[in-house]
Amino acid sequence: MKYVFVVGGVMSGVGKGVASASIGAILQSRGFKVTALKIDPYVNVDAGTMNPTEHGEVFVLDDGTECDQDLGNYERFLGKNLSRANYMTTGSVYQTVINKERRLYYNGKCVEVVPHIPLEVIDRINRAAKLTGAEIAIVEIGGTVGEYQNILFLEAVRILKLKRPKDVVLALISYLPFLNKDSELKTKPTQYAVRTLNAGGVQPDIVIARAGVPIDQKRREKISFNCNIAVDDVISAPDVESIYDVPVNFEKDNISGRVLKKLGLRPRKKDLKEFKKLSAKIHAAKKTVRIGIVGKYFGSGGFVLADSYISVIEAVKHASYSLGSKPVIEWIDAENLGDLRKYDGIIVPGGFGSRGVEGKIKAIRFCREKKIPFFGLCYGMQLAIVEISRDRLGFKDANTTEVNKNTGHPVIDILPEQKNKLAKKDMGGSMRLGAYPALLKNGSIALSAYKTGKISERHRHRYEVNPEYVGDLKEAGVAFSGTSPDGRLMEIMELSRKEHPFFLATQFHPELKSNPFSPHPLFTEFIKASLKHGKK
Ligand code: GLN
Repeated sequence: MKYVFVVGGVMSGVGKGVASASIGAILQSRGFKVTALKIDPYVNVDAGTMNPTEHGEVFVLDDGTECDQDLGNYERFLGKNLSRANYMTTGSVYQTVINKERRLYYNGKCVEVVPHIPLEVIDRINRAAKLTGAEIAIVEIGGTVGEYQNILFLEAVRILKLKRPKDVVLALISYLPFLNKDSELKTKPTQYAVRTLNAGGVQPDIVIARAGVPIDQKRREKISFNCNIAVDDVISAPDVESIYDVPVNFEKDNISGRVLKKLGLRPRKKDLKEFKKLSAKIHAAKKTVRIGIVGKYFGSGGFVLADSYISVIEAVKHASYSLGSKPVIEWIDAENLGDLRKYDGIIVPGGFGSRGVEGKIKAIRFCREKKIPFFGLCYGMQLAIVEISRDRLGFKDANTTEVNKNTGHPVIDILPEQKNKLAKKDMGGSMRLGAYPALLKNGSIALSAYKTGKISERHRHRYEVNPEYVGDLKEAGVAFSGTSPDGRLMEIMELSRKEHPFFLATQFHPELKSNPFSPHPLFTEFIKASLKHGKK
Protein backbone atom coordinates (compact mmCIF):
# COMPACT_ATOMS: atom_id res chain seq x y z
CA MET A 1 0.00 0.00 0.00
CA LYS A 2 1.22 3.44 -0.94
CA TYR A 3 -0.21 6.80 0.04
CA VAL A 4 -0.27 10.19 -1.64
CA PHE A 5 -1.58 12.91 0.66
CA VAL A 6 -2.67 16.23 -0.76
CA VAL A 7 -2.90 19.30 1.47
CA GLY A 8 -3.60 22.91 0.60
CA GLY A 9 -1.62 25.96 1.56
CA VAL A 10 -2.06 29.77 1.51
CA MET A 11 -5.78 29.82 0.76
CA SER A 12 -8.77 27.65 0.05
CA GLY A 13 -10.35 27.17 -3.34
CA VAL A 14 -7.13 26.58 -5.26
CA GLY A 15 -8.42 23.32 -6.67
CA LYS A 16 -7.17 20.70 -4.27
CA GLY A 17 -10.00 18.37 -5.26
CA VAL A 18 -9.23 18.60 -8.96
CA ALA A 19 -5.50 18.27 -8.22
CA SER A 20 -6.09 15.13 -6.15
CA ALA A 21 -8.41 13.67 -8.76
CA SER A 22 -5.86 14.49 -11.47
CA ILE A 23 -2.98 12.85 -9.61
CA GLY A 24 -5.21 9.79 -9.20
CA ALA A 25 -6.10 9.74 -12.89
CA ILE A 26 -2.45 10.12 -13.91
CA LEU A 27 -1.24 7.29 -11.66
CA GLN A 28 -4.11 5.16 -12.94
CA SER A 29 -3.01 5.89 -16.50
CA ARG A 30 0.46 4.66 -15.56
CA GLY A 31 -0.96 1.26 -14.75
CA PHE A 32 -1.74 1.40 -11.02
CA LYS A 33 -4.93 0.60 -9.14
CA VAL A 34 -5.90 3.82 -7.43
CA THR A 35 -8.56 4.99 -5.06
CA ALA A 36 -9.19 8.47 -3.68
CA LEU A 37 -10.39 9.58 -0.24
CA LYS A 38 -11.48 12.89 1.18
CA ILE A 39 -11.02 13.86 4.79
CA ASP A 40 -13.12 16.85 5.79
CA PRO A 41 -12.29 18.76 8.95
CA TYR A 42 -15.86 19.66 9.95
CA VAL A 43 -17.67 18.07 12.90
CA ASN A 44 -20.76 17.19 10.85
CA VAL A 45 -20.85 13.41 10.55
CA ASP A 46 -21.50 13.83 6.83
CA ALA A 47 -22.36 16.63 4.40
CA GLY A 48 -26.07 15.81 4.30
CA THR A 49 -27.21 18.33 6.88
CA MET A 50 -25.39 21.31 5.41
CA ASN A 51 -26.90 24.07 3.32
CA PRO A 52 -25.14 24.13 -0.09
CA THR A 53 -24.06 27.75 0.42
CA GLU A 54 -22.02 26.53 3.41
CA HIS A 55 -19.94 23.94 1.69
CA GLY A 56 -21.06 23.53 -1.90
CA GLU A 57 -23.10 20.73 -3.38
CA VAL A 58 -23.89 17.62 -1.39
CA PHE A 59 -22.67 14.74 -3.55
CA VAL A 60 -24.39 11.36 -3.20
CA LEU A 61 -22.77 7.98 -3.81
CA ASP A 62 -24.44 4.74 -4.92
CA ASP A 63 -24.54 3.50 -1.32
CA GLY A 64 -26.36 6.65 -0.22
CA THR A 65 -23.41 8.44 1.40
CA GLU A 66 -23.97 12.21 1.41
CA CYS A 67 -20.53 13.63 0.99
CA ASP A 68 -18.28 16.41 -0.18
CA GLN A 69 -18.41 17.51 -3.82
CA ASP A 70 -14.79 16.43 -4.28
CA LEU A 71 -15.92 12.80 -4.32
CA GLY A 72 -17.69 13.86 -7.51
CA ASN A 73 -14.37 15.03 -8.95
CA TYR A 74 -12.75 11.73 -8.03
CA GLU A 75 -15.53 9.71 -9.65
CA ARG A 76 -15.48 11.83 -12.80
CA PHE A 77 -11.69 11.72 -13.20
CA LEU A 78 -11.14 8.11 -12.18
CA GLY A 79 -14.26 6.77 -13.91
CA LYS A 80 -15.07 4.74 -10.78
CA ASN A 81 -17.92 4.54 -8.31
CA LEU A 82 -16.76 5.20 -4.77
CA SER A 83 -18.33 4.28 -1.45
CA ARG A 84 -18.72 5.40 2.15
CA ALA A 85 -15.19 4.15 2.83
CA ASN A 86 -13.78 6.95 0.66
CA TYR A 87 -15.02 9.77 2.87
CA MET A 88 -14.55 10.79 6.48
CA THR A 89 -15.03 13.85 8.64
CA THR A 90 -13.78 14.87 12.05
CA GLY A 91 -17.29 14.10 13.32
CA SER A 92 -17.41 10.60 11.88
CA VAL A 93 -13.93 9.73 13.13
CA TYR A 94 -14.69 10.90 16.66
CA GLN A 95 -18.03 9.11 16.58
CA THR A 96 -16.30 5.81 15.77
CA VAL A 97 -13.60 6.26 18.40
CA ILE A 98 -16.16 7.13 21.08
CA ASN A 99 -18.36 4.17 20.13
CA LYS A 100 -15.35 1.85 20.25
CA GLU A 101 -14.41 3.16 23.68
CA ARG A 102 -17.93 2.46 24.96
CA ARG A 103 -17.59 -1.11 23.71
CA LEU A 104 -14.30 -1.57 25.65
CA TYR A 105 -12.37 -1.83 22.38
CA TYR A 106 -9.41 0.02 23.91
CA ASN A 107 -9.07 -2.45 26.80
CA GLY A 108 -8.98 -0.02 29.67
CA LYS A 109 -6.56 2.40 28.02
CA CYS A 110 -6.88 6.16 28.35
CA VAL A 111 -8.22 7.09 24.92
CA GLU A 112 -6.54 10.25 23.71
CA VAL A 113 -6.83 12.64 20.83
CA VAL A 114 -3.27 11.67 19.92
CA PRO A 115 -2.67 8.93 18.94
CA HIS A 116 -6.16 7.42 18.80
CA ILE A 117 -7.77 9.86 16.39
CA PRO A 118 -4.94 9.78 13.80
CA LEU A 119 -4.66 6.00 14.16
CA GLU A 120 -8.37 5.65 13.40
CA VAL A 121 -7.82 7.87 10.34
CA ILE A 122 -4.99 5.63 9.13
CA ASP A 123 -7.12 2.54 9.76
CA ARG A 124 -9.87 3.95 7.61
CA ILE A 125 -7.53 4.80 4.76
CA ASN A 126 -6.19 1.24 4.83
CA ARG A 127 -9.69 -0.19 4.91
CA ALA A 128 -10.75 1.88 1.90
CA ALA A 129 -7.69 0.76 -0.03
CA LYS A 130 -8.34 -2.87 0.82
CA LEU A 131 -11.99 -2.66 -0.09
CA THR A 132 -11.20 -1.21 -3.50
CA GLY A 133 -8.09 -3.31 -4.10
CA ALA A 134 -6.09 -0.12 -4.58
CA GLU A 135 -2.30 -0.08 -4.63
CA ILE A 136 -2.16 3.69 -4.17
CA ALA A 137 -4.57 5.74 -2.06
CA ILE A 138 -4.83 9.44 -2.85
CA VAL A 139 -5.92 11.18 0.34
CA GLU A 140 -7.05 14.78 0.20
CA ILE A 141 -7.06 16.62 3.50
CA GLY A 142 -9.67 19.37 3.59
CA GLY A 143 -9.00 22.87 4.86
CA THR A 144 -5.80 24.87 4.59
CA VAL A 145 -2.48 24.31 6.32
CA GLY A 146 -2.29 26.42 9.47
CA GLU A 147 -5.88 25.87 10.51
CA TYR A 148 -6.55 24.33 13.88
CA GLN A 149 -9.10 21.96 12.36
CA ASN A 150 -6.94 19.66 10.26
CA ILE A 151 -3.95 19.27 12.58
CA LEU A 152 -4.96 15.75 13.58
CA PHE A 153 -5.05 14.67 9.95
CA LEU A 154 -1.55 16.04 9.42
CA GLU A 155 -0.61 14.08 12.51
CA ALA A 156 -1.84 10.95 10.70
CA VAL A 157 0.50 11.85 7.83
CA ARG A 158 3.36 12.32 10.28
CA ILE A 159 2.77 8.93 11.91
CA LEU A 160 2.50 7.15 8.56
CA LYS A 161 5.63 8.84 7.24
CA LEU A 162 7.49 7.82 10.38
CA LYS A 163 6.39 4.19 10.14
CA ARG A 164 6.60 3.79 6.37
CA PRO A 165 8.88 6.49 4.98
CA LYS A 166 9.07 4.87 1.55
CA ASP A 167 5.34 4.51 1.11
CA VAL A 168 4.11 8.06 1.67
CA VAL A 169 4.25 11.15 -0.50
CA LEU A 170 2.95 14.48 0.74
CA ALA A 171 2.00 17.03 -1.90
CA LEU A 172 1.32 20.62 -0.96
CA ILE A 173 -0.85 22.55 -3.35
CA SER A 174 -0.13 26.18 -2.79
CA TYR A 175 -0.98 29.50 -4.37
CA LEU A 176 1.42 32.11 -5.73
CA PRO A 177 -0.22 35.53 -5.76
CA PHE A 178 0.91 38.60 -7.58
CA LEU A 179 -0.05 42.16 -6.85
CA ASN A 180 -0.52 43.50 -10.35
CA LYS A 181 0.46 42.58 -13.86
CA ASP A 182 3.92 44.13 -13.53
CA SER A 183 4.84 42.31 -10.34
CA GLU A 184 6.38 38.85 -10.05
CA LEU A 185 4.68 35.80 -8.61
CA LYS A 186 5.25 35.74 -4.87
CA THR A 187 6.56 32.61 -3.19
CA LYS A 188 6.61 33.84 0.41
CA PRO A 189 3.13 32.60 1.38
CA THR A 190 4.13 29.17 0.08
CA GLN A 191 7.26 29.30 2.21
CA TYR A 192 5.14 30.06 5.27
CA ALA A 193 2.80 27.19 4.46
CA VAL A 194 5.76 24.81 4.29
CA ARG A 195 7.11 26.16 7.60
CA THR A 196 3.73 25.53 9.15
CA LEU A 197 3.78 21.95 7.89
CA ASN A 198 7.32 21.62 9.29
CA ALA A 199 6.07 22.82 12.67
CA GLY A 200 3.61 19.93 12.53
CA GLY A 201 6.49 17.55 11.96
CA VAL A 202 6.03 16.94 8.24
CA GLN A 203 7.92 18.00 5.16
CA PRO A 204 6.14 18.07 1.80
CA ASP A 205 7.76 16.04 -0.97
CA ILE A 206 6.15 17.92 -3.82
CA VAL A 207 4.89 21.46 -4.17
CA ILE A 208 2.20 22.10 -6.75
CA ALA A 209 2.35 25.80 -7.49
CA ARG A 210 -1.04 27.18 -8.47
CA ALA A 211 -0.96 30.56 -10.11
CA GLY A 212 -2.63 32.54 -12.84
CA VAL A 213 0.27 31.76 -15.17
CA PRO A 214 2.94 29.03 -15.44
CA ILE A 215 5.76 29.56 -12.95
CA ASP A 216 9.21 30.37 -14.27
CA GLN A 217 12.60 28.82 -13.45
CA LYS A 218 13.39 31.54 -10.90
CA ARG A 219 10.23 30.72 -8.89
CA ARG A 220 11.00 27.02 -9.05
CA GLU A 221 14.43 27.68 -7.64
CA LYS A 222 13.11 29.96 -4.93
CA ILE A 223 10.56 27.42 -3.77
CA SER A 224 13.17 24.69 -3.97
CA PHE A 225 15.76 26.56 -1.92
CA ASN A 226 13.43 27.95 0.72
CA CYS A 227 11.16 24.94 1.11
CA ASN A 228 13.72 22.14 0.98
CA ILE A 229 12.35 20.67 -2.21
CA ALA A 230 14.17 19.49 -5.33
CA VAL A 231 13.60 21.85 -8.26
CA ASP A 232 12.05 18.97 -10.19
CA ASP A 233 9.52 18.47 -7.42
CA VAL A 234 7.96 21.86 -8.01
CA ILE A 235 5.03 21.35 -10.36
CA SER A 236 3.59 24.30 -12.25
CA ALA A 237 -0.20 24.53 -12.13
CA PRO A 238 -1.40 27.59 -14.03
CA ASP A 239 -5.04 28.47 -14.66
CA VAL A 240 -6.44 26.35 -17.46
CA GLU A 241 -9.51 26.62 -19.64
CA SER A 242 -11.01 23.38 -18.39
CA ILE A 243 -10.40 21.26 -15.30
CA TYR A 244 -9.96 18.32 -17.65
CA ASP A 245 -6.74 19.96 -18.90
CA VAL A 246 -5.16 19.56 -15.47
CA PRO A 247 -3.83 15.97 -15.74
CA VAL A 248 -2.11 16.67 -19.05
CA ASN A 249 -0.70 19.87 -17.60
CA PHE A 250 0.68 18.22 -14.44
CA GLU A 251 2.34 15.60 -16.58
CA LYS A 252 4.24 18.27 -18.47
CA ASP A 253 6.28 18.57 -15.27
CA ASN A 254 6.44 14.77 -14.94
CA ILE A 255 4.48 14.60 -11.71
CA SER A 256 3.89 10.86 -12.06
CA GLY A 257 7.59 10.19 -12.57
CA ARG A 258 8.42 12.14 -9.42
CA VAL A 259 5.70 10.54 -7.28
CA LEU A 260 6.37 6.98 -8.45
CA LYS A 261 10.10 7.34 -7.89
CA LYS A 262 9.56 8.48 -4.31
CA LEU A 263 7.22 5.55 -3.73
CA GLY A 264 9.77 3.11 -5.17
CA LEU A 265 7.44 2.14 -8.01
CA ARG A 266 8.19 1.73 -11.68
CA PRO A 267 5.62 2.98 -14.17
CA ARG A 268 3.87 0.12 -15.97
CA LYS A 269 2.70 2.11 -18.93
CA LYS A 270 2.59 5.64 -20.25
CA ASP A 271 -0.78 6.70 -21.45
CA LEU A 272 -2.79 9.85 -20.87
CA LYS A 273 -4.44 9.37 -24.26
CA GLU A 274 -7.99 9.67 -22.98
CA PHE A 275 -7.37 12.99 -21.26
CA LYS A 276 -5.35 14.30 -24.21
CA LYS A 277 -8.22 13.48 -26.54
CA LEU A 278 -10.74 15.05 -24.19
CA SER A 279 -8.68 18.25 -23.84
CA ALA A 280 -8.30 18.53 -27.60
CA LYS A 281 -12.03 18.05 -28.07
CA ILE A 282 -12.85 20.75 -25.53
CA HIS A 283 -10.48 23.25 -27.13
CA ALA A 284 -11.78 22.49 -30.60
CA ALA A 285 -15.47 22.98 -29.72
CA LYS A 286 -16.83 25.89 -31.73
CA LYS A 287 -20.60 26.08 -31.30
CA THR A 288 -21.98 27.50 -28.10
CA VAL A 289 -25.12 26.53 -26.26
CA ARG A 290 -26.66 28.88 -23.74
CA ILE A 291 -28.08 27.12 -20.69
CA GLY A 292 -29.87 28.85 -17.83
CA ILE A 293 -29.98 27.23 -14.40
CA VAL A 294 -32.74 28.44 -12.10
CA GLY A 295 -31.65 28.27 -8.51
CA LYS A 296 -31.23 30.00 -5.22
CA TYR A 297 -28.02 28.74 -3.61
CA PHE A 298 -25.81 31.32 -5.29
CA GLY A 299 -25.19 34.11 -2.88
CA SER A 300 -22.18 34.43 -0.61
CA GLY A 301 -22.03 38.06 0.44
CA GLY A 302 -21.34 40.05 -2.71
CA PHE A 303 -20.21 37.00 -4.69
CA VAL A 304 -21.98 34.40 -6.72
CA LEU A 305 -21.02 30.80 -6.03
CA ALA A 306 -21.55 28.09 -8.58
CA ASP A 307 -20.32 25.40 -6.18
CA SER A 308 -23.80 24.43 -5.08
CA TYR A 309 -24.59 22.98 -8.51
CA ILE A 310 -21.16 21.74 -9.51
CA SER A 311 -22.28 18.31 -10.78
CA VAL A 312 -25.06 19.87 -12.86
CA ILE A 313 -22.53 22.23 -14.42
CA GLU A 314 -20.10 19.41 -15.13
CA ALA A 315 -22.83 17.22 -16.63
CA VAL A 316 -23.88 20.08 -18.94
CA LYS A 317 -20.25 20.44 -20.00
CA HIS A 318 -19.75 16.71 -20.63
CA ALA A 319 -22.81 16.54 -22.86
CA SER A 320 -21.96 19.78 -24.68
CA TYR A 321 -18.36 18.76 -25.36
CA SER A 322 -19.49 15.40 -26.70
CA LEU A 323 -21.66 17.31 -29.19
CA GLY A 324 -18.79 19.55 -30.24
CA SER A 325 -20.07 22.58 -28.40
CA LYS A 326 -19.19 24.74 -25.42
CA PRO A 327 -21.85 25.67 -22.93
CA VAL A 328 -22.39 29.19 -21.69
CA ILE A 329 -24.00 28.61 -18.32
CA GLU A 330 -25.94 31.42 -16.71
CA TRP A 331 -27.57 31.67 -13.32
CA ILE A 332 -31.21 32.58 -13.14
CA ASP A 333 -32.23 33.80 -9.71
CA ALA A 334 -35.49 32.03 -8.86
CA GLU A 335 -36.65 35.17 -7.10
CA ASN A 336 -35.86 37.44 -10.04
CA LEU A 337 -36.13 35.54 -13.32
CA GLY A 338 -35.43 38.21 -15.93
CA ASP A 339 -35.93 37.50 -19.64
CA LEU A 340 -35.94 33.75 -20.20
CA ARG A 341 -36.20 33.97 -23.98
CA LYS A 342 -32.45 34.27 -24.40
CA TYR A 343 -31.71 30.70 -23.30
CA ASP A 344 -31.37 27.69 -25.59
CA GLY A 345 -32.39 25.45 -22.71
CA ILE A 346 -33.32 25.78 -19.05
CA ILE A 347 -32.58 23.52 -16.08
CA VAL A 348 -34.46 23.60 -12.79
CA PRO A 349 -32.17 21.64 -10.45
CA GLY A 350 -32.68 20.15 -6.99
CA GLY A 351 -33.60 22.20 -3.99
CA PHE A 352 -35.36 22.37 -0.65
CA GLY A 353 -37.89 24.60 1.08
CA SER A 354 -40.27 27.26 -0.17
CA ARG A 355 -38.00 30.17 -1.08
CA GLY A 356 -37.89 30.66 -4.83
CA VAL A 357 -40.47 27.95 -5.55
CA GLU A 358 -43.03 30.18 -7.27
CA GLY A 359 -40.29 31.62 -9.48
CA LYS A 360 -39.18 28.14 -10.50
CA ILE A 361 -42.77 27.22 -11.34
CA LYS A 362 -43.07 30.36 -13.45
CA ALA A 363 -39.88 29.45 -15.30
CA ILE A 364 -41.19 25.94 -15.95
CA ARG A 365 -44.47 27.29 -17.32
CA PHE A 366 -42.56 29.63 -19.58
CA CYS A 367 -40.49 26.73 -20.94
CA ARG A 368 -43.58 24.62 -21.50
CA GLU A 369 -45.60 27.30 -23.27
CA LYS A 370 -42.75 28.82 -25.28
CA LYS A 371 -41.34 25.37 -26.15
CA ILE A 372 -37.93 26.01 -24.67
CA PRO A 373 -36.09 22.77 -23.85
CA PHE A 374 -36.60 22.08 -20.14
CA PHE A 375 -34.80 19.63 -17.91
CA GLY A 376 -35.96 19.22 -14.30
CA LEU A 377 -33.86 17.52 -11.65
CA CYS A 378 -35.54 16.22 -8.49
CA TYR A 379 -37.24 19.36 -7.11
CA GLY A 380 -37.36 20.44 -10.75
CA MET A 381 -39.55 17.42 -11.56
CA GLN A 382 -41.76 17.91 -8.51
CA LEU A 383 -42.36 21.54 -9.43
CA ALA A 384 -43.08 20.63 -13.07
CA ILE A 385 -45.82 18.34 -11.75
CA VAL A 386 -47.17 21.17 -9.60
CA GLU A 387 -47.14 23.54 -12.59
CA ILE A 388 -48.99 21.13 -14.88
CA SER A 389 -51.51 20.25 -12.15
CA ARG A 390 -52.34 23.91 -11.67
CA ASP A 391 -52.63 24.65 -15.37
CA ARG A 392 -54.03 21.51 -16.95
CA LEU A 393 -55.93 19.91 -14.09
CA GLY A 394 -57.24 23.23 -12.85
CA PHE A 395 -56.03 22.59 -9.28
CA LYS A 396 -55.16 26.19 -8.56
CA ASP A 397 -53.75 25.38 -5.10
CA ALA A 398 -51.79 22.29 -6.21
CA ASN A 399 -48.49 22.12 -4.38
CA THR A 400 -45.91 19.96 -2.72
CA THR A 401 -46.59 19.44 0.97
CA GLU A 402 -43.02 20.54 1.56
CA VAL A 403 -44.24 24.07 0.75
CA ASN A 404 -47.90 23.93 1.79
CA LYS A 405 -48.97 21.26 4.25
CA ASN A 406 -52.63 22.20 3.95
CA THR A 407 -53.03 22.30 0.19
CA GLY A 408 -56.25 20.78 -1.14
CA HIS A 409 -54.23 19.11 -3.90
CA PRO A 410 -51.01 17.60 -2.53
CA VAL A 411 -49.70 16.39 -5.90
CA ILE A 412 -46.27 15.97 -4.38
CA ASP A 413 -46.31 14.40 -0.96
CA ILE A 414 -43.96 12.93 1.58
CA LEU A 415 -42.76 9.36 1.04
CA PRO A 416 -44.47 7.10 3.60
CA GLU A 417 -41.14 5.79 4.91
CA GLN A 418 -40.06 9.39 5.50
CA LYS A 419 -42.93 10.17 7.87
CA ASN A 420 -41.57 8.05 10.73
CA LYS A 421 -38.06 9.34 10.33
CA LEU A 422 -39.21 12.93 10.45
CA ALA A 423 -41.28 12.25 13.55
CA LYS A 424 -38.09 11.14 15.31
CA LYS A 425 -36.32 14.36 14.29
CA ASP A 426 -33.30 12.26 13.39
CA MET A 427 -32.60 14.07 10.15
CA GLY A 428 -29.06 12.95 9.27
CA GLY A 429 -29.03 10.47 6.40
CA SER A 430 -32.80 10.19 6.54
CA MET A 431 -33.85 10.87 2.94
CA ARG A 432 -34.35 8.34 0.16
CA LEU A 433 -30.67 8.15 -0.67
CA GLY A 434 -28.39 6.52 -3.20
CA ALA A 435 -28.89 4.21 -6.15
CA TYR A 436 -32.28 2.72 -6.99
CA PRO A 437 -33.31 0.87 -10.14
CA ALA A 438 -36.03 2.13 -12.47
CA LEU A 439 -37.79 0.69 -15.51
CA LEU A 440 -38.38 2.71 -18.67
CA LYS A 441 -41.47 2.72 -20.88
CA ASN A 442 -41.47 1.85 -24.56
CA GLY A 443 -41.66 4.73 -26.98
CA SER A 444 -40.37 7.28 -24.49
CA ILE A 445 -37.64 9.91 -24.90
CA ALA A 446 -36.00 8.40 -21.82
CA LEU A 447 -35.75 4.93 -23.37
CA SER A 448 -34.46 6.27 -26.65
CA ALA A 449 -31.78 8.18 -24.75
CA TYR A 450 -30.66 5.43 -22.38
CA LYS A 451 -31.06 2.65 -24.96
CA THR A 452 -31.79 0.23 -22.14
CA GLY A 453 -35.02 -0.43 -20.28
CA LYS A 454 -33.47 -0.86 -16.85
CA ILE A 455 -31.45 1.92 -15.25
CA SER A 456 -29.95 2.76 -11.87
CA GLU A 457 -29.77 6.34 -10.67
CA ARG A 458 -28.95 8.21 -7.47
CA HIS A 459 -31.54 9.81 -5.23
CA ARG A 460 -31.76 12.37 -2.46
CA HIS A 461 -35.27 13.41 -1.58
CA ARG A 462 -38.12 13.07 0.91
CA TYR A 463 -41.10 13.74 -1.35
CA GLU A 464 -42.53 12.01 -4.42
CA VAL A 465 -45.35 12.24 -6.94
CA ASN A 466 -48.51 11.41 -4.99
CA PRO A 467 -49.82 8.10 -6.45
CA GLU A 468 -53.39 9.39 -6.11
CA TYR A 469 -52.80 11.96 -8.84
CA VAL A 470 -50.91 9.79 -11.29
CA GLY A 471 -54.07 8.87 -13.26
CA ASP A 472 -55.16 12.51 -13.62
CA LEU A 473 -51.67 13.59 -14.65
CA LYS A 474 -51.47 10.91 -17.32
CA GLU A 475 -54.75 12.12 -18.74
CA ALA A 476 -53.34 15.63 -18.77
CA GLY A 477 -50.61 14.43 -21.13
CA VAL A 478 -47.83 13.62 -18.67
CA ALA A 479 -45.98 10.41 -19.54
CA PHE A 480 -44.31 8.74 -16.59
CA SER A 481 -41.63 7.12 -18.67
CA GLY A 482 -39.62 5.79 -15.75
CA THR A 483 -40.95 4.19 -12.57
CA SER A 484 -39.63 2.08 -9.71
CA PRO A 485 -39.78 -1.63 -10.63
CA ASP A 486 -42.98 -2.08 -8.55
CA GLY A 487 -44.53 0.86 -10.43
CA ARG A 488 -45.23 2.79 -7.23
CA LEU A 489 -42.72 5.64 -7.53
CA MET A 490 -42.62 8.00 -10.52
CA GLU A 491 -38.98 8.41 -11.54
CA ILE A 492 -39.17 10.25 -14.89
CA MET A 493 -41.87 12.45 -16.40
CA GLU A 494 -41.93 13.77 -19.94
CA LEU A 495 -44.20 15.47 -22.45
CA SER A 496 -44.54 13.98 -25.90
CA ARG A 497 -42.15 15.19 -28.61
CA LYS A 498 -45.24 16.08 -30.64
CA GLU A 499 -46.17 18.77 -28.18
CA HIS A 500 -42.75 19.95 -26.98
CA PRO A 501 -39.17 19.64 -28.28
CA PHE A 502 -37.84 18.51 -24.89
CA PHE A 503 -39.71 18.65 -21.61
CA LEU A 504 -38.37 15.98 -19.30
CA ALA A 505 -37.68 15.74 -15.60
CA THR A 506 -36.32 13.15 -13.21
CA GLN A 507 -36.95 12.41 -9.55
CA PHE A 508 -33.34 11.27 -9.29
CA HIS A 509 -30.11 13.19 -9.89
CA PRO A 510 -28.65 12.12 -13.26
CA GLU A 511 -25.90 14.74 -12.91
CA LEU A 512 -24.26 12.62 -10.21
CA LYS A 513 -23.39 9.91 -12.68
CA SER A 514 -22.19 11.92 -15.64
CA ASN A 515 -18.58 11.63 -16.67
CA PRO A 516 -16.53 13.43 -19.33
CA PHE A 517 -15.82 10.10 -21.01
CA SER A 518 -19.45 8.96 -20.93
CA PRO A 519 -21.78 11.94 -20.69
CA HIS A 520 -25.18 11.23 -19.17
CA PRO A 521 -27.66 10.28 -21.93
CA LEU A 522 -30.43 12.56 -20.65
CA PHE A 523 -28.09 15.55 -20.52
CA THR A 524 -26.98 14.71 -24.05
CA GLU A 525 -30.62 14.66 -25.25
CA PHE A 526 -31.30 17.94 -23.48
CA ILE A 527 -28.24 19.65 -24.99
CA LYS A 528 -29.12 18.28 -28.44
CA ALA A 529 -32.57 19.81 -28.15
CA SER A 530 -31.08 23.06 -26.83
CA LEU A 531 -28.64 23.32 -29.75
CA LYS A 532 -31.55 22.84 -32.11
CA HIS A 533 -33.63 25.44 -30.31
CA GLY A 534 -30.67 27.86 -30.40
CA LYS A 535 -30.46 27.58 -34.17
CA LYS A 536 -34.02 28.83 -34.59
N1 GLN B 1 -37.09 19.00 -1.57
C1 GLN B 1 -37.44 17.88 -2.40
C2 GLN B 1 -37.56 16.60 -1.60
O1 GLN B 1 -37.03 16.50 -0.52
C3 GLN B 1 -36.46 17.72 -3.53
C4 GLN B 1 -35.09 17.33 -3.08
C5 GLN B 1 -34.03 17.57 -4.12
O2 GLN B 1 -34.24 18.31 -5.07
N2 GLN B 1 -32.89 16.95 -3.95
O3 GLN B 1 -38.18 15.68 -2.03
